[in-house]
Amino acid sequence: MGFLKINDNIIKAVIFDFDGTLAKLNIDFQYMRKEVLRIASSYGIGPNLLKTKFVLEMINTVSDELNLKSAQESENFKKETMNFIEYLEIRAAKDGELFENTKKLLICLKANGLSTAVVSRNCEKAICLVFPDILKYCDAVVCRDKVANVKPHPQHLHTAINVIRASPPCTLMIGDHPLDIETGRNAGTFTAGVLTGHHLENDFLKAGADLVLAEAGDLIRMIK
Ligand SMILES: [Mg+2]
Repeated sequence: MGFLKINDNIIKAVIFDFDGTLAKLNIDFQYMRKEVLRIASSYGIGPNLLKTKFVLEMINTVSDELNLKSAQESENFKKETMNFIEYLEIRAAKDGELFENTKKLLICLKANGLSTAVVSRNCEKAICLVFPDILKYCDAVVCRDKVANVKPHPQHLHTAINVIRASPPCTLMIGDHPLDIETGRNAGTFTAGVLTGHHLENDFLKAGADLVLAEAGDLIRMIK
């Protein structure tokens, strides 16, 4: 059995982002944002406060705002937007696929005694469409539906870490977005960025990543 080490620290668990890290999904986030803004405006909420937020945070902000006046309006808005983003996620998942080395990597980590989990802001249905037997390869999947606060909030990562009985200082969080690095740093894990999404090495270094890999599959070669 080999060890995965980062700066002489032995890593016992690896937690993956899903989209862009283990699989290619092509979710149309621009359209998603545009449509959520349109739905918000149909509830009388303008775009001013929402420009810089990620979609899930936009939905929560609008929903909290609406809740000040009407719990029903807030609930309707949330239902309408969450249904819409789930529709886009599932549509993308139908054309999505795992990266070539994903299964090989997960098998290799397991064979070397490491625990694994996925933390994703995507819905569980979409992940299961792309990777139906994911739980044969990976110890836990924690999607947005399972936590009150999604990443970059550390609760999302801590939930996965607790499920697989790991501990933050022995865990590596790996993802294709600087937000994944922020999540790991917030949760007290080691972090790695991968270049299989839309971000460059420098984006990850700026975010404070411990390492940057061309792809998640490169971890296989790091086990010694
Ligand atoms: Mg991703």
